[in-house]
Amino acid sequence: MDEEIPVDVGLIYEGERIRKSNMYVDLAGPKSKGAELLIVAPPEEVEDGKVEVVGPDIDAMEEGGRYPLGIFIKVAGEKLEEDLEGVFERRIHDFSNYVQGFMHLNSRDIIWCRVSKDSAKKGLKLYHVGKALIKLYKSEFDVIEKMQVTFYTDEKAVDEHIARAREVYEKRDAKAAALKDEEVDVFYGCLLCQSFAPTHVCAITPSRTSGCGAISWFEGRAAVKVDPNGPIFEIPKGEVLDPIKGEYSGINEVIREKSNGAIERVYLHSIFDYPHTSCGCFEAIAFYIPEVDGIGIVHRDFQGVTPFGIPFSTMAGQVGGGVQSQGFLGIGIAYLRSPKFLQADGGWQRIVWMPSQLKERVRDAIPEEMYDKIATELEASDLESLKEFLKQKQHPVLERLAEEEAEEEAAEEETREQEAQPVATLPELTLPAQGMPVAGSPSEFTITFKNAKIYAEKVIIRRKG
Ligand code: SF4
Repeated sequence: MDEEIPVDVGLIYEGERIRKSNMYVDLAGPKSKGAELLIVAPPEEVEDGKVEVVGPDIDAMEEGGRYPLGIFIKVAGEKLEEDLEGVFERRIHDFSNYVQGFMHLNSRDIIWCRVSKDSAKKGLKLYHVGKALIKLYKSEFDVIEKMQVTFYTDEKAVDEHIARAREVYEKRDAKAAALKDEEVDVFYGCLLCQSFAPTHVCAITPSRTSGCGAISWFEGRAAVKVDPNGPIFEIPKGEVLDPIKGEYSGINEVIREKSNGAIERVYLHSIFDYPHTSCGCFEAIAFYIPEVDGIGIVHRDFQGVTPFGIPFSTMAGQVGGGVQSQGFLGIGIAYLRSPKFLQADGGWQRIVWMPSQLKERVRDAIPEEMYDKIATELEASDLESLKEFLKQKQHPVLERLAEEEAEEEAAEEETREQEAQPVATLPELTLPAQGMPVAGSPSEFTITFKNAKIYAEKVIIRRKG
């Protein structure tokens, strides 16, 4: 692609996985920290083509090491608008993955990058990744007239960058949350993740931000304007089939077509029956806990285990790939703030467990009366302690559980009664009692039952002869 970049750059490297055995360094990721941010800036604040690395670049990092990473991109252009920031920011994922020996996962403040030994040996540096990004963005989007990239690996600089990025994410999410599904005629879809989850089609509505959290309805709209043939497209809303579950004929039709018929129906606001598919770069997972009839939420940053005894990574492996998984749903954290958050399943009244860090982060979205009733890893580390906590706090799921148990008992009772129904009721039944040893009685006599009811475990009718 460019003589100054010491490795190949191209679409063929997009799905490249760098295993631990071939890892030179890990950047950001679950055991470190990082964030990516792209903003639209005034032209005078963007130095076109500039790439800066604040902190050690790859050639100054120790092999096998783990370092924090911030990626900060500024773009300028007459036709650019703020709503495009999230869409362009999401493209850091695929464009940086075009660089041979550089792997980028996830989005926003949960990015995780890895550099391979082979590419590090060839001299690949973050500086080169920045140069490749500028070329790829500018060749794909004419509207970007100027672009500069800064990488942070210095810990203090990364911390400052993460704080700045989170402020911007919150501002974008708040804008999206102010609009309702009912107020628009068109939704948006995204196919970016089909490169690794071939049947996954994201449906993006005002009340449901994408699973990666990076693309809201506004950003979808802006993306279609500048790139009408790109991976983000319009979905006509169609008929509202179920306003509570969030089922729309328009979404069903488009998802059926774009998933090649693999997915027939989608509920936007439920984890049951026809939940939205999950790709793999979702920020969190909502998961059903049958033992308490409640729903837990775990986010990517959480290092511990859920009450099921498994961590996020194990659960993500079972949920992702573009399939509908009953009782599991990959979500963006902004969806926790949606007024329609899992409304078909009971919303916050049904949430029983989430990591303390996430609970604190979305405190403002949790109804006040529910906040103390939701367990975290500090109170409940397994199903037993979770049940105990919910009992102590009189969580509303207990009522559901009690109702369900009562219904089950009633059903069992009915079954028992049905089992005890006589298989025959006869006004009179006379049986010969030949051979019955009855002391002092004549050797042949009959026994007559009046209004006899016959109960039997099994009735076998055999044809004679
Ligand atoms: S999670 Fe959805 S919106 Fe985000 S990049 Fe993937 S397909 Fe697009």
